[in-house]
Amino acid sequence: MITREAWLRLGVVTRSLTIAAALVAMAAPVPALDTLRVVTTVEGLAALAHEVGGGRISVESLSKGVADPHFVDANPMLAVKLRNADLLIDVGLELEIGWLPPLVTQSRNPNIQPGQKGRLTAASAVRVLDVPTGPVDRSMGDLHPQGNPHFLNDPRRAIDIAAAIAKRLGELEPAGAGEFQANLAAFRNRTEQEIADWDKEMAPYRGRKIFTQHRTFTYFLDWSGLVDAGEMEPRPGVPPPPSHLAELVDVARQQNVKRTSTTRSQPSWWRATPARRWSRSPAMWAVIQLPTITATTSTRS
Ligand SMILES: [Zn+2]
Repeated sequence: MITREAWLRLGVVTRSLTIAAALVAMAAPVPALDTLRVVTTVEGLAALAHEVGGGRISVESLSKGVADPHFVDANPMLAVKLRNADLLIDVGLELEIGWLPPLVTQSRNPNIQPGQKGRLTAASAVRVLDVPTGPVDRSMGDLHPQGNPHFLNDPRRAIDIAAAIAKRLGELEPAGAGEFQANLAAFRNRTEQEIADWDKEMAPYRGRKIFTQHRTFTYFLDWSGLVDAGEMEPRPGVPPPPSHLAELVDVARQQNVKRTSTTRSQPSWWRATPARRWSRSPAMWAVIQLPTITATTSTRS
């Protein structure tokens, strides 16, 4: 038997629930239309933005997959993508100098100009290596006068960048700041665990000497403890003279170098070189192809 008092109490409870529901509705996640639109220059940065932004952001990378980030076709469609961006994340250190600045100008988006809140340059979040000390000669090929921008193959630096992205997203959308920090903490925990596992696997190889294709692996070597004994391409992207390769064969013998690392795609000069030329050094045969960060996690939510 329900008493009059019980009905009244139920009424109060129901009213409270209605108010509570209204409050929840007000605090509900921002609808898809209001998600922050994040655009990155490379997919590695898109993957990091996706980790910390979760469902509160949409992410798109201007360059795709294994495309060379030094040379991206500055298609006008990319300027359109930038026009509506709330945040542009670039690598910096002049990696994108050949194609990004004109696109940013064409976008006429005041928020993503250098120095604005809607622009985050990842290089500002990491300790930069290979900063030239002497005068810089552009004839040396792919040489970056402000330091080496290929830092996305170091997982420790990836965490630093993720932290900078979480902070900036929180400034752009304060209501999501707590969620971005929670996502960052989860990403950090997971990655630190993976780093610990990789460190264990790499321990026996620390200090080993290795040849690299060119200066793309500086940060990977810095993290992994492998030592760069020489570069196959002293001028990055330019086929090495035979005399340089002959020198490397000597270095391999003297310093016991047994491995060479390249990016996923071997340079054409490498494939064109007759195999017997390499046969004098095991380093020239034992090639490790290190993947670059190209996770296809960019989303349009
Ligand atoms: Zn480069």
